[in-house]
Amino acid sequence: TPVKAHAVFVRGRFWHLSDLHWDPGYEAAAEAGRPCPSGTPRAPAGPWGSYECDAPWRLLEGAVGAMRSLEPRPDFVLWTGDDTPHVPNEQLGEKQVLHIIENLTSLIKQNFPGAFYSEKLPSPSTRGRMVVLNTNLYYDQNNQTAEEEDPGGQFQWLEETLSNASKAGEMVYIAGHIPPGFFEKKRGKPWFRSSFNARYLQIVQRHHRVIAAQFFGHHHTDSFRMFYSDTGSPINVMFLAPGVTPWKTTLPGVVNGANNPGIRVVDYDPDTLQVKDMVTYYLNLSRANAAAAAAWEEEYRLTAAFQVPDGSARSMHALLGRIAGDARDLQRYYGFNSVSYDLGPCEEPCRLDHVCAIREVDFARYDACIKGGSSAAAPGTAFLLLSLLSAALAPRLGLGNQDQIGGF
Ligand SMILES: [Zn+2]
Ligand SMILES: [Zn+2]
Repeated sequence: TPVKAHAVFVRGRFWHLSDLHWDPGYEAAAEAGRPCPSGTPRAPAGPWGSYECDAPWRLLEGAVGAMRSLEPRPDFVLWTGDDTPHVPNEQLGEKQVLHIIENLTSLIKQNFPGAFYSEKLPSPSTRGRMVVLNTNLYYDQNNQTAEEEDPGGQFQWLEETLSNASKAGEMVYIAGHIPPGFFEKKRGKPWFRSSFNARYLQIVQRHHRVIAAQFFGHHHTDSFRMFYSDTGSPINVMFLAPGVTPWKTTLPGVVNGANNPGIRVVDYDPDTLQVKDMVTYYLNLSRANAAAAAAWEEEYRLTAAFQVPDGSARSMHALLGRIAGDARDLQRYYGFNSVSYDLGPCEEPCRLDHVCAIREVDFARYDACIKGGSSAAAPGTAFLLLSLLSAALAPRLGLGNQDQIGGF
């Protein structure tokens, strides 16, 4: 009967894994009392890794092992890149980069033999599609694409793909590595060139009805980005997954920008691709090193920690309102932002940096949000302000190490 059909709710589940940044030289350095190749002048701190360094193999093995014991049969594993350590480019030849990618790929394949990579999502209903973008093309440090209007023709391809999905009655996830918009831990720090950022935003606004959600990495932090219509309705959300590497960023101006290693599982409706829930697991690195035992624990569940019904754009918009206006929700979000590494208070200007980065992907609107700063501090004004303002899945195989330049 129809009633029963509604009662039987099939829930899909996938892992989102990002920013592994394997440092193959970590162990030898630790043994010899030398600094790790990816880190600062001191010798690395412990067997499971160091906040000053990229990930030793043992940490990555532990992360993927934890994934397998927590959810051994996900529908798929979404892996949004950054594989190589933060070392000078001269130390990373093509051979070394391929060696790293090969090892990480086989680590994931050995633990998830069923995980295969395709565009079409492996759900019983065939309405789901993963659209994977190479957003390194839009990186403002990428001089090869600086003069181009549509590098690789990817924007045009994306528009066509989304139009076709719409005609076919499909829903899509967009996945990529470097996200549009701003870094919430450094004021005024975007990654995309301005024109590319604007084009991406425009495409999401035009095609948002077929985009169920977006999944990106690169920040190593746990955050999200909102997308709004011209009239201010929440139309889409992008989830930024925390990194597995604990590496403290060298980006000037970011204070103590390390994180605990994090992994994330997403519950979704395989038919509509709506995000139902998200659980982030983490390794408390200092505790693991002190105890000489690595215990991966649940950090938080989205719906329980923030009292939202799901991970829809509407729910995340409501959550943003609370983060902007309620000190307790802000503080909870802020702790998760570094995967429970930095549990210090997030006051002004920290609050403003996070709220404006989450709310405004557009460059000009972000600037206006930052400048309008203090007025948004009062509870409730966040919503008011908003309405007033104009009313395949594949691992990233991008070679090279462009991230070095920007500090990620
Ligand atoms: Zn990156
Ligand atoms: Zn990274």
